[in-house]
Amino acid sequence: MKIVTVLGARPQFIKAGSVSREIAKHESIQEIIIHTGQHYDANMSDVFFEEMQIPKPDYFLGVGGKSHGAMTGQMIEKIEEILLVEKPDWLLVYGDTNSTLAGAIAAAKLHIKIAHIEAGLRSFNMKMPEEVNRILTDKVSSILFCPTLAAINNLNNEGISSTGTEVCLSGDVMQDGALFYKGLAEKPSELLIDDYVLCTIHRAENTDDEERLTSIVKALNEVACNQTIVLPLHPRTKSKLESLSITLSENVQIIAPVGYLNMVWLIMNSKFIMTDSGGLQKEAFFFEKQCITLRDETEWVELVEAGVNKLVGANKEMILAEFNRCINKPSALFDQSIYGGGQASKAIVESIIKFMA
Ligand code: UDP
Repeated sequence: MKIVTVLGARPQFIKAGSVSREIAKHESIQEIIIHTGQHYDANMSDVFFEEMQIPKPDYFLGVGGKSHGAMTGQMIEKIEEILLVEKPDWLLVYGDTNSTLAGAIAAAKLHIKIAHIEAGLRSFNMKMPEEVNRILTDKVSSILFCPTLAAINNLNNEGISSTGTEVCLSGDVMQDGALFYKGLAEKPSELLIDDYVLCTIHRAENTDDEERLTSIVKALNEVACNQTIVLPLHPRTKSKLESLSITLSENVQIIAPVGYLNMVWLIMNSKFIMTDSGGLQKEAFFFEKQCITLRDETEWVELVEAGVNKLVGANKEMILAEFNRCINKPSALFDQSIYGGGQASKAIVESIIKFMA
């Protein structure tokens, strides 16, 4: 069986780290990897392939740093050319980026079966590019691997049962990665402290909205008077802060984006997490850290229900209130079964093999 996997952005490399390792255990499967180049910097891309031993991409499309339309359109064209040559049995895509959607559209038009990992998630906010990408990808996929029951419910509410699409509760592949890599975690060499709160900001709804970005930075600067914040700075956020002349306090320790082994160390050794990242909300949970989510909604609703994740948006007063609550009352209950317990990649590969038989 031949599978073509389309990847392009940091969270997809992290997810593929676990699934490609599982695929490699099966001699009957040949995996061809297309890297679209959506993220292409050494510290946003290469480091993950090296550290997580993801097979070197067979094709690199070099389609990064463009508008959504230009990026997605050029990806579709180039992926189609490759699919016509490779003639795979399956196309495998992860999550909700432009690379996910481009791969799915190219394969659907060629009648190649599509497996979507991290299917069924919804923020119910159609202004998010990720929401558009994930809904459209789910619609054209043959098999949908859902990380949570909430994702299955979303698909049921959209009438998936009448479409003939296979839906599988696989658990979350990021939990497989967190368990596998935690023993390999390494302290980032540039970090000189051990007492910090970890923060990441990169989502367009925050970086592309001056009012929201300013409000988040004001809150961070205020809490940083008493507690060092470590901020691995995403390139998009860096350029927005620079262009808007928004400055962070000296107690916000900015570092360049780190590889996964450093990131796992940073999560494990933090007091708690503040983020607008999807993946980091779950990783906080896997490592039993509370999470303050700098968004108005989340796809990971079970974390909010479990009381370990609080949505505060970009509201300065809400960020400060939740920060003080986490600093003063850090304990919570983390039931690790809600994401499947770390067997998702195995379940996914076995399902694909079964589906072919
Ligand atoms: N991450 C990383 N290095 C960093 C920042 C994040 O390895 O400097 C990891 C993080 O642990 C998570 C993934 O990148 O596994 C999340 O990616 P991102 O926040 O870019 O995307 P999202 O999950 O929101 O789609």
